[in-house]
Amino acid sequence: MITLKILGSSSSGNCCLLVTEGRYYLIDAGFSGKKIREKLSRYGISLKDISGVFITHEHQDHVQGLKALAKIEGIKFYANYKTAQAIESRYDIKGPWCVFETAETFSIDNLSILPFLIPHDAAEPVGFLFKTQRNSCVWATDLGRISPQVAQVLEQADVLVLEANHDAELLWNHPDRPVFLKERIAGEKGHLSNYEAFSFIKNSKHAWKSIYLAHISKDCNSVQQLQQLFLPLAQSLKFDLEIVDPVLES
Ligand SMILES: [Zn+2]
Ligand SMILES: [Zn+2]
Repeated sequence: MITLKILGSSSSGNCCLLVTEGRYYLIDAGFSGKKIREKLSRYGISLKDISGVFITHEHQDHVQGLKALAKIEGIKFYANYKTAQAIESRYDIKGPWCVFETAETFSIDNLSILPFLIPHDAAEPVGFLFKTQRNSCVWATDLGRISPQVAQVLEQADVLVLEANHDAELLWNHPDRPVFLKERIAGEKGHLSNYEAFSFIKNSKHAWKSIYLAHISKDCNSVQQLQQLFLPLAQSLKFDLEIVDPVLES
C-alpha cells in the first residue's frame, strides 16, 4: 500500500513523502535539509528513516535539499543518467546515485517504479508511476503538455498528482513578469495550466480515486480559483480532491 504526504509543492520547493510497507522515500527534495527535517518531524519521521529520493529533474525547486541528504548514510538518489549528470555539474553533488533508465520499470522490494519522460525544459525530466499489489500513484508536475504517451501512464493509477500551475489569463496579464518568462511557462516545455489539467481529467475515461493538484503558482493562480473549477468536476466524477496550497506548504 502506497501513501503520499506532500510536504510542499510550488516553484519555491517540491518534496513528497512516499510511505510503503514500513519504508520511507521522498519524491524530489526541493527544500533545504533543515526544512525537510522539520516537515518530516510532523509525521514522526527523521531523515535517517528515508531510504531514497526519486528525482524528477535538476531544477532548483526539486533538488535543493540533496546536498544535505547526501550526508545521511543509507539514502540513495534515484535518477536517470542525464539528470544525475546535470545535478553533479550544477550543484556539485556526488550522489550516491542509483541510475535508472527512463521508460523502464524497476523494483525496490514490492514497489515497482516506472519513470516516464515528460515535456519540460530540463535534461531528461520524468514523472513516476508507483505500484504495489494494493494500489498505485502517479506523479506528474513540471510538464508543458500532456502528450498521448504521458496520458496513457497517468491513466494507470488510482491516485493522480498533477500540476495545475497557472491560470493562463493571470499569467499573461501579470505586470512584473517578462514576456520570455511567460512564454517559457506557457510553452510546450513549461508548466501545465489549470485549464489543461482540467480538460485532461474531464475528458479522460479513467476513474481516479483521488487527485492532488500541485506545483501551483503563488502569483498566477489561487486555491479559490482551483476550487471553483475542480470541485464540481470532483463531485460529478466522484474523486477526492486535494489542492496543495503553495503558500501554506512552502
Ligand atoms: Zn518545479
Ligand atoms: Zn522544473
